[in-house]
Amino acid sequence: MLTCQKCGKVITEKEALVHKEAKNEQSIICPDCFKAATGVDYKTFAFRKESAKQTFFAVIFCLAATIYAFIEKGPIYGVFGIAATILIYLFASKVK
Ligand SMILES: [Zn+2]
Repeated sequence: MLTCQKCGKVITEKEALVHKEAKNEQSIICPDCFKAATGVDYKTFAFRKESAKQTFFAVIFCLAATIYAFIEKGPIYGVFGIAATILIYLFASKVK
């Protein structure tokens, strides 16, 4: 068991969140204090982080496919790949 360093509430290890303060000091806080400190609740935050990660990998994958197409199939396929990458990026940022 851990205690929240802000409000002193007893929390389980699973609930505990590491929050980085402005001076780069880390503190262990509960989800409620996380929400108070950042303005977003932790689930939303985790979801955003996860979808940002997925977008990143999707874009990287598309770029790799684009480079491959450019080299193997020629510039037209490369341009097509770039267009697809941009579309995926725009679509992903709209979903958020
Ligand atoms: Zn707390």
